Order: sequence, then C-alpha cells, then structure tokens
Amino acid sequence: MLDLRIDNATLIDGTGAPGRTGSLGVLNGRITTIGRVDEPARKIIDAEGRVLAPGFIDIHTHYDAQVFWDPTLSPSSHYGITTIVGGNCGFSVAPLADGDTGAYLMRMLSRVEGMPLESLKACSDWGWNSFGEYLDRFDGKLAINAAFMVGHSALRRSVMGERANTDAATPADLAAMQKLLGESLAGGGIGFSTTISPAHSDPDGNPVPSRLANRAEMVALAGVVRNFPGTSIEFSLDVQVPFTAEHVQLMTDISLAAERPLNWNALLPSARAPELFKSQLAASDHAAKQGARVVPLVVVKPGDLRLNFTSGFVLDLLPGWAEILHVPKAERLRTLAEPSVRAILQAGVDEAPANMRASYANFHDWTVAETFSPATKPHEGKVVGDVAKAAGKTSLDMVLDIALADDLKTTFVLPRRHNDAESWELRSTAWLDPRALIGASDAGAHLDMTDSFAFFPQLLSIGVREKKLISLEEAVRQLTSRPARLMGFSDRGELKVGYRADLVVFDPATIDHGPLHTRFDLPAGAGRLFAEAIGVGHVFVNGIEIFRDGQFQGAYPGRAIRSGRDTTTPPMVEAQ
Ligand SMILES: [Zn+2]
Repeated sequence: MLDLRIDNATLIDGTGAPGRTGSLGVLNGRITTIGRVDEPARKIIDAEGRVLAPGFIDIHTHYDAQVFWDPTLSPSSHYGITTIVGGNCGFSVAPLADGDTGAYLMRMLSRVEGMPLESLKACSDWGWNSFGEYLDRFDGKLAINAAFMVGHSALRRSVMGERANTDAATPADLAAMQKLLGESLAGGGIGFSTTISPAHSDPDGNPVPSRLANRAEMVALAGVVRNFPGTSIEFSLDVQVPFTAEHVQLMTDISLAAERPLNWNALLPSARAPELFKSQLAASDHAAKQGARVVPLVVVKPGDLRLNFTSGFVLDLLPGWAEILHVPKAERLRTLAEPSVRAILQAGVDEAPANMRASYANFHDWTVAETFSPATKPHEGKVVGDVAKAAGKTSLDMVLDIALADDLKTTFVLPRRHNDAESWELRSTAWLDPRALIGASDAGAHLDMTDSFAFFPQLLSIGVREKKLISLEEAVRQLTSRPARLMGFSDRGELKVGYRADLVVFDPATIDHGPLHTRFDLPAGAGRLFAEAIGVGHVFVNGIEIFRDGQFQGAYPGRAIRSGRDTTTPPMVEAQ
C-alpha cells in the first residue's frame, strides 16, 4: 500500500527530458515508482491535463527571520517551492554571540534587506548561539525544507563586536572566525556567504561587517569550507557596473580556496547595455580556466522597482544622500523640508553617474503608486513629472512634498525598464546559457520593494506560455535539478525513484500569480508585498501535501537541510 499515487499526469522530471503521461507512487516520503503504477494507495490524485514536476528550489532567499513568524515561508510555498536556501549575502542570523550581536544584526537586516525592525524584534527571542541551535529552533516546524548559508557579517560581528564595522581583522580575529565558521558548517550550515556590494550598508550608514574584510580574510574563510562536504559559496557584489579584474579574480580565488562553486546575484541582461552582462558572464570563463566555478543567477523579468523614503533603500546610493536619509525619522521629516538640504540632494543627483540618473534618479518619470493621506490621494497613479508641472515645482521637490505629507510612507514605482523585445531575447539567451542559472528571487527581503520572489510562476507564465522563450521542460529543469545540483541537494530536484517526494502539480495553461498587493501580516503589523499563486493544484513536501488549490493543509513536513547529512559536495564542473 502506497501513501500517495498521482495518476494521469504529464510527468516533467526535472532533467529536461520531454514530458510523458504517467503515474507516480510515494511511500515513506520518497518516490517509489514512476510511469506505470498499479499499487493501491491511501491517497490518489488524478492529475489529468496537469504537470507533475519536482518541487521547485529557490537558492537565493532571505527567509532567515521569517522561519519564526511564518513557518509556511509564504509566498514561496504557494508557488510550489519546496526547498529554499537562506543566509545569503552574508546575512545569516546565526551564529550569534551573546551581548549586542543579535540587536545589531536586526538593525542591519532592517536596513539592508528592508525588513521592518519592529517585526524582527517581535518574531523571536533571538536566544540561540550556535548555528546548529538556530536550525534546531525550527527543524520539523516548517511547511517546506530550508537550508542556510553561514553569513560573513554574522560571523564577523560575533567575533569582533563593534570593531567588525570599522577594523581589519587581526590574526586572532581571523582564527576565531575560521573556528566559528567551521563549527557552524559542522552544525549544518550549507556554505559560506559574503558581500562586497556598496549597496549593503547598515542603518548608521556604515558598511556591513563583511565589507570591512580584505581579500585575504575572504579567501581564508572560504578555505574553511573545503573541509566540510556538501557545502558551497554565495557572493554579492555591485552588478550595475562592469566587474573589475580584481573582483573577478577574487570570486575565482574564493571558489578555488573553497573547492566549491560560487554563485552570485544577479545577472540583469538588458538591450540598453548588452556588453555589461556579457562581460559579467565572462567572469565564469575566467574562473573556469583556473579550475574555479562562478555561476550567476539571472533574472526572469525586469523588476518593477518600488521606492519609498521610509527605508530609503537604493536612493541612499546617490552621492550625499545616505547621510541625509540615514537619520531617525523625526529628523528626516524636518530636514527633508529644508531648501538647503534639498539643494544637497539635487547636487548629489547632478554628480551621480549617468546610469544611476537614468535608472532611478529620474524623478519626473516616477509614478505615485500608493499614498497614505487625503492630501496626496489625488496624485495616486499619476506620473510625478505631470503633478510637478501642474504645481509649478521641480520633480524632486514634488516627490519630497508628497512623501512628507504621507509621513514618508508613499510608494513610488519607477518606469518599467528593459521590457523591450530585445531585452527579453537577451534574457532568454542568458536563461539558456550553461554558465548561468535562473534565479535571483530575494524572497523574504526588500519586502516593500520588489516582486522578484514571484519569478517561479513568472518564468512559467511569461517565459514559457506567453513569450515562448523557453520550453516547459527546460524551465522546470532550471527550477529543480540545476539548483539542486549546484547546492548539492543529492536526493531532490528530480522525479526519480528513491528521491524525496517533494512535488508540485500545476496547470501549464493557467499557472501565474495574482496582482501584487500589500499584506499587513508581519509581526507588529507591518506590511509586505504579496501575490497569490494561480494554477498550482498540489504541493507535497517529503510526501505530505501542504497546499491544495491554494489552501494550506496545516502540515509542517519541512526539514532543516544540514550539510553533509542531506547534501553532497557540488561539482566544480557541471555534468551535462
Ligand atoms: Zn540577497
């Protein structure tokens, strides 16, 4: 007697092989039979006309704190994602030294990943120390499986305290960080993550701890990783500009020291700058020549970037803006009204690089997306340039006046970029490039800014169905077996006998997501962007159904994935 049988499905197995009609049997959380299944089962699902695929795998999320307030890890689980990787960009929440480390990391995350501070404080007691203790906190309590990288900033702050944000590491600091990283990987961390991106600053305007590391520190920490099977590396850097030779060699050296693939986030192909993404992809060739492996995660769709003056994220990259935006809100409300301060802001825009001005400091092209006061309501849905013209103001003054009237809550949307046919063509070339992997969701982060968390249904709806830029089989491969192999998830990512029964049944004719809207369900009442799944019939994790037609089934069969136990070492050359 099987636990589960799914009949009459189009089986798309995750390898890229053509779909075929058949059944699949599950017993004790694993796939036991595929193709023709005659055995009786306790639960039988008729999937006629629908696809049965391996559960999707999202390797770039920031669900590190969400595990405590939303054990379903929504919205990812709604879309058929059955395994996530968190702790990316150096921003894990473990290990955690006693003292103010937890308080610092919460403040850092509030800024750098756009998570409301009051929600972070309310979601947990932050009482763990070791990485293993952190995993134990939620193991067996989640709807889906979750693996976590050990973040450089958490390590550095735990070892060096406040000096982590100002000083180079002493030999003793480095030795202590290496020891703590080793203990964290032994405790189940699935790799090491770090960032050198200038976008990553804490609320005081200081670089996050990992940005104070020199290359010797980065490489020495990567060297620890090679001693732990089933681990890998994640790296974040400035992707708006061509990579310097130094940065390409740094990624190469980190991968070589770790003897592990390194993935970075995100490749943004655009017809406006076709050379930029080609040169960034070439970093993988440079690395491969030296025996390293560097894998970019490429976006599915151009993001509709949403900005506000509450978090100020991205805007603070404009010259001189960080000092003005990174002050308590009451002070910001006062200073942003002052003409002298506005003159400094305008000067920052004038001296910003052309690509920054064109990409987001073009206030006249912004749209007022969501307002929060009767005075600003009439502007909702309007383009700032038009509103400013009618009011006889500059666009920057108009944006600031609206934001101030809304207590800084106003959401502005930037014009959709890179949405031309040529850019879609370029993106799909990158999707199919063996050096890259489709990804870059950032789910759980930038909660007020982007919908990149929804790239799974977007690939299947826009990429496969609407624009026909990728086959359904290849899209499923990119969402399942390729990320599984990159992370060393040895018994996940394919429909294969003996593999874990992480499964999704979806309708290829309708799969999509609903409209983006704000949901006020964070701890302490803060809001986040959300979009419901469409066309996802069933989601199974370790053989247990967690979603049926969009309804959560109340089960928590997800496990904390631990390196070595649940993973094998990913290869330095991808098997074709
Ligand atoms: Zn990230």
